[in-house]
Amino acid sequence: MAKGKVYLVGAGPGDPKLITVRGLAALQRADVVVYDRLAGPQLLQQLGPETERIYVGKRPDRHTMKQEEINQLLVDLALQGKTVCRLKGGDPTVFGRVGEEAELLRRHGIEFDIVPGITSAIAVPAYAGIPVTHRDWASSFSIITGHESPDKLDRMIHWDKVTNATGTLLFLMGVAKIGYISEQLMKHGRPADTPVALVRWGTRAEQATLVGTLGDIAAKVAEAGFEPPAVIVVGDVVRQRESLRWMETKPLFGWRVLVTRARAQASELSERIDELGGEPYEFPVIETRLQTEPGAVRKIEEALAEADAYDWVMLTSPNGVEAFFAWLVRTGIDIRRFHRARFAAVGPKTAEALQARGVLAEPLPEKFVAEGLLERVAASLRPGQRALLPRGDLAREVLPRELEARGVEAVELDVYETRMNVPQDDGRLLEMLRAGEIHVVTFTSSSTVTNLLEALHLLGEPLPAELLRDVIVACIGPITARTAAEHGLRVDIEASSSTIGGLVEALQDYRRKPSGAG
Ligand code: SAH
Repeated sequence: MAKGKVYLVGAGPGDPKLITVRGLAALQRADVVVYDRLAGPQLLQQLGPETERIYVGKRPDRHTMKQEEINQLLVDLALQGKTVCRLKGGDPTVFGRVGEEAELLRRHGIEFDIVPGITSAIAVPAYAGIPVTHRDWASSFSIITGHESPDKLDRMIHWDKVTNATGTLLFLMGVAKIGYISEQLMKHGRPADTPVALVRWGTRAEQATLVGTLGDIAAKVAEAGFEPPAVIVVGDVVRQRESLRWMETKPLFGWRVLVTRARAQASELSERIDELGGEPYEFPVIETRLQTEPGAVRKIEEALAEADAYDWVMLTSPNGVEAFFAWLVRTGIDIRRFHRARFAAVGPKTAEALQARGVLAEPLPEKFVAEGLLERVAASLRPGQRALLPRGDLAREVLPRELEARGVEAVELDVYETRMNVPQDDGRLLEMLRAGEIHVVTFTSSSTVTNLLEALHLLGEPLPAELLRDVIVACIGPITARTAAEHGLRVDIEASSSTIGGLVEALQDYRRKPSGAG
């Protein structure tokens, strides 16, 4: 069998967008991904469902894999002919033990690439508003391990040289040794008032920064119970933070927000959360796909074949638009055969989706529900007209009823179907929910509510609603909120406009309230 290849990839410090383009390509190309906890969970969502995932980090229920075992695992997988992505936090060459992994691969004649990543040593201070160099204060920086026992640290770190260097000192793995480190630095000549910052879980929702001086930082760490992992920054550059703090001042900073809608629709919401400093976690519990039910398919084909018999085509969602055009392609019917029809759209997003395909819809309704559409087009409706309604199989009944009441024949097509989806995330969501690491859950339709609860149940949670008790529940509108309440959830945020924009506004309003600190 041909040998596989191993990509030794730096995942960056946690923010999933801080992986390199090459790293992401390797991740998506891999048959199997070997990762630990420093590589952010969102990156694993970039994988296809067939990709094998092997967690080699710490886990309470299992022994932690030793480095030698990991090295061997990579060799074994590659010898099976697999393309392997070894995903490591930060940069793989900075305290990443990539040398040991690469060496064993080389000995077995296995090809490997090292794909550098953004190291936490530089990126984490940057996210706290601390640049590691400064034109006036720091013309160099050192990245130093704080991992070893004090006597070994003394042998490895030349405190006298380190201390006298003019630059910034960056300690990784050093939180537990902060007392010893600051002592040594002062003993060898760094003034007690030298600024120090510890930045924990930088670039993630949990990012937290503690600032002090060499003289008082150990006491502050103890007092605050400040936990690893953190980057320790020593030097005058820390002062920059006062004016350069940027991440921590964003409106949704510190919130990890669960996005439950279908993957294809999730990105708009996720992007806006990300822009506002929140950390989206996508867990699409809905999946939409083109209709497959034979009866419904026949009805679609028949209706499209009579394209020129319609006076109206009324679309109720961007999904519906996409599916409608997909069916035109599939059946080989040209859109121009709808030459008699006027197009109408429920809501601006649906109108935009139509416009993107070169179709201008009738003026927008004021309300984004079916009743609103009707108010606007009512004047042009005539008895005896025919309207085509391509929509999902869960669409509401108001529109066809109202059309019929006005003597318009409504032909409903279930162009796509919506199914429940249980995302494969290796148990990460449950783990995060149980650890209180999901701060907000967003529901953008009633089925996201019912599906999430069912998915959690299927994943092994006996009381899903109970698990969400301490999570802020945000609903896109009143109907979704009612469903959430009916399922025993406490609704904290209810957007009024039933749009993603409205939901994002409502999240910010809630956060601004003193009680919404989260
Ligand atoms: N190869 C990694 C470092 C591995 S050593 C890199 O280049 O970033 C692990 C140490 O990195 C942790 O103990 C901590 O000091 C630091 N670290 C990694 N990710 C971090 C993060 N998001 N926030 C703070 N410190 C982090």
